Amino acid sequence: MTIEQLKQFCSTDKTRPGLNAPFSQGEWTLATNARVAVRVPRLPDVSENKEAPDVLKLFSECNFDDPGRVWVDPPEPVFTVTQCVWCDGKKYLDEKEAPRDPSDKGAQPCDGCDGKGENRSGHVDITGPLGTTTLASIYIELIRTLPNCKIGLFGDESTKDKKKGKSSHLLAVCLRFNGGDGLLMPMRIFNND
Ligand SMILES: [Zn+2]
Repeated sequence: MTIEQLKQFCSTDKTRPGLNAPFSQGEWTLATNARVAVRVPRLPDVSENKEAPDVLKLFSECNFDDPGRVWVDPPEPVFTVTQCVWCDGKKYLDEKEAPRDPSDKGAQPCDGCDGKGENRSGHVDITGPLGTTTLASIYIELIRTLPNCKIGLFGDESTKDKKKGKSSHLLAVCLRFNGGDGLLMPMRIFNND
């Protein structure tokens, strides 16, 4: 894994300076956008970042070797493409976040669609021993760039939090790939059981 590959997993949200670049913690170098995190053995040229959250704690709380976990290939992501609701498909906004043509004064690429004019959404259900876990297609697409990535899950990660009455990072599914491992938060599906 190179720093460039890790950067894909960083947040582009400038209000989260701890997540905008890969960082090192302990024996590891990590990258996360708060929904998916990956780590590789520490790279000498990636420094620590005081603003970064304690992501290793999350890893230590997930038992990758639990025999109840099944390991599967990431599925093919499924997307629905719709016109961007922020820029009405114009790809540009002004400083008041109103849609603009690119030639207009003060026009800036739309953050809501990265200047593409459209939003992609979608999810895929993966069945494990304990049920069905729902993962967002954008993150499935991202983890499929990892070499030989496998998803380790129980199948109840999308619903377990309802029983606990609060969200918990223990609900992440585990990732393994050549050269490192990771965690991915499922989508929350609340049922009434
Ligand atoms: Zn847009």
